Amino acid sequence: SSATTEHDLVVIGGGPGGYVAAIKAAQLGLKTACVEKRGALGGTCLNVGCIPSKSLLNNTHLLHMAKHDFAKRGIDVGQVQVNLGQMMKQKEESVSSLTKGIEFLFKKNKVDYVKGHGRFTGPNEVVVDLLEGGQQTLKAKNFIIATGSEPSPLPGLEVDEKQIVTSTGALALEKVPEKMIVIGGGVIGLELGSVWSRLGAEVTVVEYMGSIGSGMDAQMAKAFQRILQKQGLKFKLGTKVVNSEKKDGKVMLNVESAKGGKAETLEADVVMVAVGRRPYTENLGLDKVGVEVDKRGQITIGERYVASQHSHIRCIGDATFGPMLAHKAEEEGIAAVEDIAGGHGHVNYDAVPSVIYTSPEVAWCGKNEEQVKEAGIKYNLGVFPLSANSRAKANGDTEGLVKIISDAETDRILGCHIISSTAGEMIAEAVLAMEYGASSEDVARTCHAHPTVSEAFKEACMAAYDKPIHA
Ligand code: FAD
Repeated sequence: SSATTEHDLVVIGGGPGGYVAAIKAAQLGLKTACVEKRGALGGTCLNVGCIPSKSLLNNTHLLHMAKHDFAKRGIDVGQVQVNLGQMMKQKEESVSSLTKGIEFLFKKNKVDYVKGHGRFTGPNEVVVDLLEGGQQTLKAKNFIIATGSEPSPLPGLEVDEKQIVTSTGALALEKVPEKMIVIGGGVIGLELGSVWSRLGAEVTVVEYMGSIGSGMDAQMAKAFQRILQKQGLKFKLGTKVVNSEKKDGKVMLNVESAKGGKAETLEADVVMVAVGRRPYTENLGLDKVGVEVDKRGQITIGERYVASQHSHIRCIGDATFGPMLAHKAEEEGIAAVEDIAGGHGHVNYDAVPSVIYTSPEVAWCGKNEEQVKEAGIKYNLGVFPLSANSRAKANGDTEGLVKIISDAETDRILGCHIISSTAGEMIAEAVLAMEYGASSEDVARTCHAHPTVSEAFKEACMAAYDKPIHA
């Protein structure tokens, strides 16, 4: 059976890009539908990304504290044990309550939620193969493609999500592997590597590049790697994965030096492939509407997120250019919808924060030192160690530093880099400062509450334009 409905906007994909766009559109008075094939809203982020990973990171951090840290704080808890099943259950509950929350928001805002796989059959038409069977034809004046991304495969490794896993399998292992190899020292690899390391696995990170953190400030990457090593993670940098074979219940991973030569075989119970993600545009009918993808599979967009020769078809989020981050997708969703409704929308790509939610966390925004150097900009540095911050001291939590890069002529803040247990929250101040074009002196002259870790941010700004008080 096939029913036909008409909307002002149809959004394909119910992840953070798509669902936020749909709600915003409905709020602006557009009759809106959102098509999602997963059977749950929230996309990668909520179902197999940001949220479940943060649940496991938080709970394994607490475990680590209970095992290795509480006693020196005068808290004796006796023998600490892991109940992995319960930990996974709590993760699942946080996911399901949030996905249901979005369903509620759809109802509240009168967004039509169409469950199924959508594909273009013409410039103003999407046909949905409904999860419950049958089809629905959606006609609309505007479309937003927000189909997101999937893990990139690595030639020579066949993912089975049990022994050779992507992030999705690594979020749901049934027991703690003795030995785990993480291929890729980027955000996802380091986060999930930390999770299983804290749960007791011996984790080795294999990375092709000479440093971890996929392009973060080199000084911060080095400091971060030292911290992770102290926690027990091992690193093999400048190392290329050749292929793998399964033997006696183990995975044998053949690697060699990235520069060529020097081959060796590593053995693991579980190998996680975390070498990046690629846009997901399978069976979307893009050829029917003149939407093009580049070599990397990213949907090509022009001005105002327009993705086709038909100006009413737009694309946002992981499916197109830019950092693959939930908040970037959300910002674009709002901008694209505001553009449809009112003719303009805006995202400041110079002020999109990145966070790694390990313990401590790493967060940054704007340019790193290498980029400023390469651009030939004269700059000042303000560095402040957390060991000189009173709150961090009181908390017994002094690992990390704040690094500010400012323009030597104008004092405008060009980049902020933070390692701290609260870096993910602290970076919001940096983003706000940068959004408003603040100088380091502006921040340094802003009153910060005492004692807070945020004072380290203020003192790093003092250090950038003058001298800090406490270091
Ligand atoms: P997605 O979230 O991928 O959503 C796209 C949706 O579209 C999917 O649900 C898919 O089922 C649906 N879809 C696709 N094709 C069709 C179709 N034809 N018809 C119907 N539906 C379709 N980002 C952060 O900012 N912070 C983090 O802490 C973070 N942690 C992460 C941890 C992990 C392990 C992973 C894998 C990712 C993480 N990310 C994080 C990245 C984040 O999840 C993505 O950037 C974000 O989800 C992108 O949003 P999106 O809306 O573009 O796409």
